[in-house]
Amino acid sequence: GANARRFLLDSLWDLDGNLRKMGSRLLVAWGCPQEVFPRLFHAWRTTRLTFEVDTEPSARRRDAAVAELAAQHGVEVIQEVSHTLYDTQRVLALNDGKAPLTYKHLQKLLVSLGPPEKPVPALTQEHLQGCHTLCQLSHDTNYDVPTLEELGQDPNEVGPHLYPGGETAALARLDTLMEKTTWVCSFKKPETEPTSLIPSTTVLSPHLKFGCLSVRTFWWRLDEIYQGVRWLFWGGGEKPPVSLHGQLLWREFFYMAGAGIPNFDRMVGNPICLQVNWDDNPQHLHAWREGRTGYPFIDSIMTQLRTEGWIHHLARHAVACFLTRGDLWISWEEGLKVFEELLLDADWSLNAGNWLWLSGSAFFHRYFHVYSPVAFGKKTDQDGAYIRKYLPILKDFPAEYIYEPWKAPRAVQERAGCLVGTHYPQPIVEHGVVRERNMGRMK
Ligand code: FAD
Repeated sequence: GANARRFLLDSLWDLDGNLRKMGSRLLVAWGCPQEVFPRLFHAWRTTRLTFEVDTEPSARRRDAAVAELAAQHGVEVIQEVSHTLYDTQRVLALNDGKAPLTYKHLQKLLVSLGPPEKPVPALTQEHLQGCHTLCQLSHDTNYDVPTLEELGQDPNEVGPHLYPGGETAALARLDTLMEKTTWVCSFKKPETEPTSLIPSTTVLSPHLKFGCLSVRTFWWRLDEIYQGVRWLFWGGGEKPPVSLHGQLLWREFFYMAGAGIPNFDRMVGNPICLQVNWDDNPQHLHAWREGRTGYPFIDSIMTQLRTEGWIHHLARHAVACFLTRGDLWISWEEGLKVFEELLLDADWSLNAGNWLWLSGSAFFHRYFHVYSPVAFGKKTDQDGAYIRKYLPILKDFPAEYIYEPWKAPRAVQERAGCLVGTHYPQPIVEHGVVRERNMGRMK
């Protein structure tokens, strides 16, 4: 999607700017790697190629092909694990080649490996001594960071620029967050609020996804804080799975699963996935995607997602449950595709892993725990400020009806300037009814 592409381009501009400060620069090459690399090996007389190990199946196929081409051209290849805290292959090997299927099991395996490696020092001019980037004028036109249009995106489709991309922005965000030591140490994920108008979690996910922030830097910065306040907080603060360290272990958990489980991003052929006869209902899917389900809490979340590209974890819970086992009985694979397009942090392993979880297809099997599209948001936002922000058409409804505007008497709807069924949709399903039906199907 356009918002995620803009984040990527921000990140590339930032990287280029930081390299230029050291007398180097970023050269962006375009095209199919199998065609581009041989051309560059030849043109640049390349002797060494380094890149980060990737765990996604399509990336692994690409990287294997490039490594083979490099070998054919006599180019040395160095691959380093740095996108995850631990080497996924090493952890899988410890567990007989299988992905651990519970968080506890992963924790046990990681204990035997010790703490994650520390990040290597940041690049400085000294590291670059003896290196020369032969920048020619033609490089500006041939290897510049592309524009949104060049990536096939309409610049009019991007939303407000709330979360700029790039290492500089990522480190600044991390620094600001790490100053709030009490917040860091008492962070309990289930107590953060999906309806908060200012994010109640870190929003470092897009930076982690695009590699603007190293997960190891994040881990060790947290560790410093936990160590520093042991005298204040018993044992250094909250613990996994609810602490911030705990969040990074969830990330690790789903990376292990993505690396070790075949067909992880689909139902068919995925050995851990419940095989469900989901309905095919393009109208309902469209209404969910566009925030037109008639349930204001669900529609607000989908509007925030579409315009801003980031939504709180529990908001993701609410809309994922609604689409799948809760209300619409539509396949989680459809939801995954929408998130893939609209999230700034869309990440193959984390997206699939969490959709499997929320749809009750794997990892989580308490199918009778269904989020109410009415009561869940009310828990933290009785007055509906979140709905009023993202669905201004409903902003003048009294708090009593803001989560269920269809229940408001006609006079109240008229006073609010919004007739349900005309200006805002009627609910597309009756939650109480479909919830019971779906639970029966899940059972
Ligand atoms: P924080 O609470 O500040 O956590 C810090 C970091 O820990 C996050 O940036 C993230 O890297 C990691 N983390 C936190 N929760 C999870 C989790 N449940 N699973 C894996 N890693 C986690 N996250 C993505 O990064 N990309 C996705 O594509 C994605 N898809 C999701 C789909 C669904 C249906 C659901 C329910 C969750 C999904 N998540 C995804 C997980 C989670 O919602 C986000 O990582 C989190 O909300 C990002 O906000 P934050 O950086 O403020 O998180």
